[in-house]
Amino acid sequence: MDVKQPQPPPPSSVKIKRTTSSDNAGSGSIILNKYQLTRLLGRGSFAKVYHARCLDDNKEFAVKVINKTITTIDASMEPRIIREVSAMKRLNHHPNILKLHEVMATKTKIYFVMELAHGGELFTKLNRRGGRFSESTARFYFHQLVSALHFCHQNGVAHRDIKPQNMLLDKDGHLKISDFGLSALPEQLQNGLLHTACGTPAYSAPEVVYRKGYNGAKADAWSCGVILYVFLAGSLPFDDSNLPNMYKAIHRREFQFPDWVSKPARRIINRLLDPNPDTRYSIEELMNTTWFKKSSSMKQEEQSRKKFFGEGILEKESKHMERMNAFDIISMSSGLDLSGLFEAGLNKKEMRFTTNVEVMKVEEKVMKIGKDEGYRVERRKKGGIGLVKGRVVLLMEILEVAKELWLVEFKVVNGGSEFEDCQWKELKSRLKDIVVSWYNDVS
Ligand code: ADP
Ligand code: MG
Repeated sequence: MDVKQPQPPPPSSVKIKRTTSSDNAGSGSIILNKYQLTRLLGRGSFAKVYHARCLDDNKEFAVKVINKTITTIDASMEPRIIREVSAMKRLNHHPNILKLHEVMATKTKIYFVMELAHGGELFTKLNRRGGRFSESTARFYFHQLVSALHFCHQNGVAHRDIKPQNMLLDKDGHLKISDFGLSALPEQLQNGLLHTACGTPAYSAPEVVYRKGYNGAKADAWSCGVILYVFLAGSLPFDDSNLPNMYKAIHRREFQFPDWVSKPARRIINRLLDPNPDTRYSIEELMNTTWFKKSSSMKQEEQSRKKFFGEGILEKESKHMERMNAFDIISMSSGLDLSGLFEAGLNKKEMRFTTNVEVMKVEEKVMKIGKDEGYRVERRKKGGIGLVKGRVVLLMEILEVAKELWLVEFKVVNGGSEFEDCQWKELKSRLKDIVVSWYNDVS
């Protein structure tokens, strides 16, 4: 691999510029008297990305425009945003991380001026190659992905949204990872773990989607497993638009390899796609495998990086994985919430929630509620509990979706018309002390 030399960090600090100039932004418009937006490069979940030219020196950039009023970000938060943006800027010094040039804000928009990835998305290239890579090409890109993640983790930032759209290429064909630093706000932290729902289901670790407190670095390791699988197999390991079904498959580790995937690669993917984050491979363990170490390009890259920085800069803040950054503010203010994804196919006859209370206790609780509400309570042979009153039959089933995290599902299997909204409400209010999160609202 062609090794790019990381640049030493500039001494300047970062400022978030506020401006009162026009908030209109779209192709052709000039923003903040400095950048002309030329064309739309892509749309993201909460942003549009434009190709732009700097009016001063004609240099090309990509500008991510987040259309969000920032009135929720008050002046007291600004120093923290600045601190976080400077943390993100520190990540600029890795060759496989897309550089962030500046962050600017108007009343209704936030602009991230970034390095332009001339080569577009890596997955366009993957598709052009018949949907998958040879093992050596896969390793070439995988090294760059893992190197970027390792660097960030050491720097106290987890990515948490590794997915094809965030894997871009520069003009030399090297990987550039974008959107680094979707870490959580300190206030959102409980027990020192991250609690924000973010990421993309097919690439996100189960503990992320089910919003169990989680370790961002281990969640990134899961996504690496999905990416490596996709590189080699040419399809997703878990792919079901019905998320509860997908998580059933994840939990049962139901995925198969095509014949051509080698044994060492399978072993690594198996260890990365471990639904239990405690036993899942860490990035370091992954980097120590023979399969991964096969090429020395990675070592050279690490060595050249260390030559520039020494070890110090990386370790300084590594003890604090849970930190806020500008992206957090945005994701928080745009109310990123995956619960909508669970509503597809659901109706007022179903209700789901996750709990970290063990199965026996949940069952006991449901049986007690059932009895109190005048239901006949039956334990079913196939598992689960039936609640019967007149023509109404309610069925409750529990499914383990991650270590110490269960999905509880209630269904009205008979007499739906007699089962009133107020009965759901009553049930919900009596269950609420064991709920981690609800997945559809039957209000
Ligand atoms: P997402 O939420 O999907 O990551 P983004 O808002 O980050 O979306 O970006 C949307 C799309 O714009 C990306 O999928 C990519 O194709 C394109 N894009 C983003 N950043 C850049 C960049 N720096 N250079 C070129 N294209 C980019
Ligand atoms: Mg992105």
